[in-house]
Amino acid sequence: MRGDNYLHKGRRKQLVEYLFSKGITDAKVLQAIGSVPRHLFMESIFEDFAYEDRAFPIAASQTISHPSTVAEQSSLLKVEENQKILEIGTGSGYQTCVLMAMKAQVYTIERQKDLYDFSLKIFKKLNVSPKFQSFGDGFVGLPSFAPFDRIIVTCGAESLPVQLLKQLKVGGFMVIPLGPEDNQILTRFYKKDETSFEKEEFGLCKFVPMLKNVNL
Ligand code: SAH
Repeated sequence: MRGDNYLHKGRRKQLVEYLFSKGITDAKVLQAIGSVPRHLFMESIFEDFAYEDRAFPIAASQTISHPSTVAEQSSLLKVEENQKILEIGTGSGYQTCVLMAMKAQVYTIERQKDLYDFSLKIFKKLNVSPKFQSFGDGFVGLPSFAPFDRIIVTCGAESLPVQLLKQLKVGGFMVIPLGPEDNQILTRFYKKDETSFEKEEFGLCKFVPMLKNVNL
């Protein structure tokens, strides 16, 4: 079985130093990235490059995001201990583990069955568990568990998934790549009250598309 040895730990430390040099200063984010063994979330052929700032293919033609993207989204989310976070797009489960390492209670949804199954296994292997893990359509969110302190969307939405904003607590943040596939903008919404939001934009980004319904 693949493990986590001193070489991986050393490379992870260098990745954390790199992210810090690129302006990621949230200590909780850096500590989490320094603790989650990213190489175990991807195929072994990519293992030597797992701590470079690169995205890699995972099952179902999806990708594990760049570490800098995970770090930026996690920073923008302003996570506090024990907060309830809804994550759309479990994917490999890497971002989920980073949020759990930040001591959040994560509720996560994935629409690709292969990835849902993969992430179940890796969470078990790493002995961690999200509060709730769903095979479903993130556009719907998880109304029965709402409201959430934070919502993170790790796929690009052409238009705003309004159901998700409804499931955000007043005073909460949602971070989402928004816009057409070739012009997605990393966007943060702050819910001021039940009907009004503040919107901030953080530049262009590139995520796999947010798609409707599930894929068995
Ligand atoms: N955070 C992941 C990134 C995975 S890529 C990681 O760290 O590996 C984005 C993921 O969003 C893909 O797995 C894709 O299948 C998923 N996705 C796309 N549309 C979705 C939807 N409507 N509901 C849930 N997941 C969705």
